[in-house]
Formats: sequence, structure tokens, C-alpha cells
Amino acid sequence: MTHIYSTAAQMSAALAAKEVSSVDLTKEHLARIAQVDTDVHAFLYVDKEGALAQAEAADKLRAAGGAISPLAGVPLALKDVLAQKGIPTTCGSKMLENWRPPYDSTVVTKLKAAGVVILGKTNMDEFAMGSSTENSAYGPTHNPWDLDRIPGGSGGGSAAALAAFEAPLAIGTDTGGSIRQPAAVTGTVGVKPTYGGVSRYGLVAFSSSLDQAGPCARTVLDTALLHEVIAGYDERDSTSINQAVPDVVAAAKRQEVKGMKIGVVKELGGDGFQAGVSQRFQEALEILVANGAEIVEVSCPNFEYALAAYYLIAPSEASSNLARFDSMRYGIRVGDDGTVGAEEVMRATRHLGFGPEVKRRIILGTYALSSGYYDAYYGSAQKVRTLIKRDYEKAFESVDVLVSPTCPTTAFKIGEKSDDPLAMYLNDIATIPVNMAGIGGMSLPCGLAPEDNLPVGFQIMSPVMQDDRMYRVGGTLEAALVSKWGQPLLSAETKLAVK
Ligand code: GLN
Repeated sequence: MTHIYSTAAQMSAALAAKEVSSVDLTKEHLARIAQVDTDVHAFLYVDKEGALAQAEAADKLRAAGGAISPLAGVPLALKDVLAQKGIPTTCGSKMLENWRPPYDSTVVTKLKAAGVVILGKTNMDEFAMGSSTENSAYGPTHNPWDLDRIPGGSGGGSAAALAAFEAPLAIGTDTGGSIRQPAAVTGTVGVKPTYGGVSRYGLVAFSSSLDQAGPCARTVLDTALLHEVIAGYDERDSTSINQAVPDVVAAAKRQEVKGMKIGVVKELGGDGFQAGVSQRFQEALEILVANGAEIVEVSCPNFEYALAAYYLIAPSEASSNLARFDSMRYGIRVGDDGTVGAEEVMRATRHLGFGPEVKRRIILGTYALSSGYYDAYYGSAQKVRTLIKRDYEKAFESVDVLVSPTCPTTAFKIGEKSDDPLAMYLNDIATIPVNMAGIGGMSLPCGLAPEDNLPVGFQIMSPVMQDDRMYRVGGTLEAALVSKWGQPLLSAETKLAVK
């Protein structure tokens, strides 16, 4: 019997009951990867030996008795932007081809301490810049629902690995939507925790004031179990919040929303959103009302400027962060034949090492930060950011959580938007405000759009360090939807393009 269609919580129970060993569970997933990943291309690197060694260690620990994490022995897919000691970490870039970090990121340290089995590294848009995984230097990932479509981005590999049943758990990172948008278009669950809730130590920086790692899975509870493992204060990250992690697992299990006030953000929906997306979103709202929640409409007028401000702040920070790839400290080195100077080697390395989208962002960011323009661009964008934060603060005075569709559309075709950066950027119109304010955001599936039978994402936003609220609402909605459908959106019966 295979366990790949189970949830992580079910795998955990099967491990505890000794119905399966972690080694067997890991082998089942490695076999699945071998079977489907030539089509899906979710993984950039599969660490077969390392995963089996970690599984064996988890089995030994369990046999010895004593305290053990609920996720010990459960396999996971890791986005290739997080450092794992000795394992290639490319960030989807030629620049870091074959780079093996000499240390573990804090997320990886915590995963290892909990006995989670890391299967390998997942594909992503280069340096996490993109919404489709087409910007990976190693070729696109394909959406398991329809292999001609994108799995979202930048963390398309992690989301696709979950949807294709190659792993029950994954780690993503979210700077403007890279956990939530891939979750939405693959019918999976993804959470961007409060900024500072999960350590950024060892997370290759794109836009440091926005980047946040978070849990991805096929259910809200699995996401909560993983959240609990990776979250918490870390003195090695100066922006880490020194507070207790909210009890997200209890919140995910609670399954009731009686008396909760839920605000629908007027600006994140309506015109420009696919009809089937809006329809499924409305139906989900009705379910929440039927479960005792009160729904009110809320206006956040400054969200209109979020996308424009993001595309000043994120490229500005990227242009500064990516200056470290100078052909000397990390990654590849091009054209150093002993006859040319350091500047020429640097130029040749950055020319070959970075792809077009990364170059576009570096140019944008360098311009926005240049003296004479700094106040007009970067400075104004920071002011807009404050206004967005205030919109949220005001809204959270009267509601417990805010909700919206996660993305304007379902998964689009590979190639459809790759020549149109602005069309690509618009994917994140509903996810970016969360990052600008540093609050928590979750996406969970709320059905298939009637017009194309592709997954639709429901976004829940909660105030700083109140991440438990979105798990409470998400857990309730998920339970009601699964009982309405008679099965989860993703199950062994799901008609995926990968068999
Ligand atoms: N799609 C957005 C961008 O291209 C967000 C990416 C992310 O969250 N890493 O910047």
C-alpha cells in the first residue's frame, strides 16, 4: 500500500503506529519522483542518499522511544533558495550553479532537529523573481493539473511537488506572493507567516524587508504542523520577532468561526478577476457565514498603489543584495583567463550568470536608488508602504481577519505572459499588500473554476503575530468544503495530468 496520497498528519500517525517506517515512506516518495518528475520538473536536485539516511535516523529515534516531533520521518521538498549544508543551492540561477553552502539555514536546522526528511531542492524563478517558475535557468516547472500550464512562482517547484504527490510537505518563500500564488494555482495550501516569524538566516536574500519563508502542504493542518517546526525567534536574524509562536496547530484543529468578523477587501477583487474565481470566492464566503462568521466589506484605499510601490522597493533591495555576486565570493566565474582585470571578469560573470528578469530588476532598482531619484522613487514607495500598513491597522480594528481571492486568474499557459513583464507582475496584485505590511497571509483551495476546471485560491490575512487566526478560518473553511465535495480537492481520485 502506498502512503503518498495521505496527509502529513496521517503519515505521522502511521509512523507512530508503526504501520510504516520512514525509510519506506521516503522510498515511496522517491519512487513517485522518479515516476512523474520528468513531466513535472518540480525538483532541481533529489538527495536520495541523504533523505534515506535521515529517514533511517528518524526510524532509529522512534524505536528508541522518548519524545519525538510529530513530523519526524515525514518527507519534505525544500525550495532551492534556502541553504542546506553540502547540497547544491542554486536559487534557480546559473550564477550559483554547483554552489554548495557550507552551512544550514535556520529553517533547515529546525527541520533536521525535528527529524523531517529533506527529499531535495525545488525549482523556482531565478532569485525568486517571477510568478510562473519560467524564469528558472533550469527550465520551467509544469502544473500537475495541466502540464501545459504554469504552477505559479516563484515557488512553483514546491507547490507542484505537493500537487503531484511527490512530497506531503514543502517550504516556500514569499516576497510578494511566491508561497500563496503557487498554492492557489495548484490547489494546495501555502502560508506566509508574519514577517519576523520564521528566521531568514540562510535564506538567499531577494528583498530583505519583504522576504519570508513559510510552510506549504495539501491541508491547513499539515501547514500548521510545519509552521510550528520552522517558526520562532532566532538571534541570527536581526528582524526575527522575540515572541512566542502563536498556537497555529490548535487553531487549525478548532474548526469553528462563530462570532468571528471577516472583512472582504473591496479593492482586491471584482473587475479584472476571472468570473469563476470570483464565484468560488463568494461561495466560500457563504460557507463561512453558514458557520457563524459575520462578513463585512472593508475598504483599503491605498492598496491600489501596492504593486507600483513593490516594484520600486523589491528591485531596489534586490539590486543591493545581488551586488554580492561579483565572481569572487560565490558561484561561477567567467572569462578569467589571466589577461583581463577583475572588473571585466565581474562583467562577464554577471552577464552570463543572471537571466533577463534579474537584470531588469537590478537596472530598475539601481535607477530607483540613484542620487537625485532616491526620494522620488524609493522614498515615495516607502511612504506608500506606511499607508498600506495603516489601511490594515484600521481594518483590523473592526475585523479579525481580511479575505480576498489569492490571484485574479487560474493557472495560465506556459509562455502566455513570459514576454510581458507587466502582465506577469499583475498576478500578485492581491498578495503583495500582505508583504508590504509584514502581516500573515494564507492561501487555501476553494474549488475549481467552472470555466476551466482549474484550482482557485482563497486568501486569508491576519494581523502581526496573530497567525493563528488565519489557521482557524482556513481550517473551518477547508473542513466545510471537503464535506461538501465528499473528498479533498487533491486526492488519489483527482484527475491530474500526471498519473
Ligand atoms: N512575483 C513577485 C515578484 O516577481 C513575487 C515573488 C516572490 O514572492 N518571491 O517579485
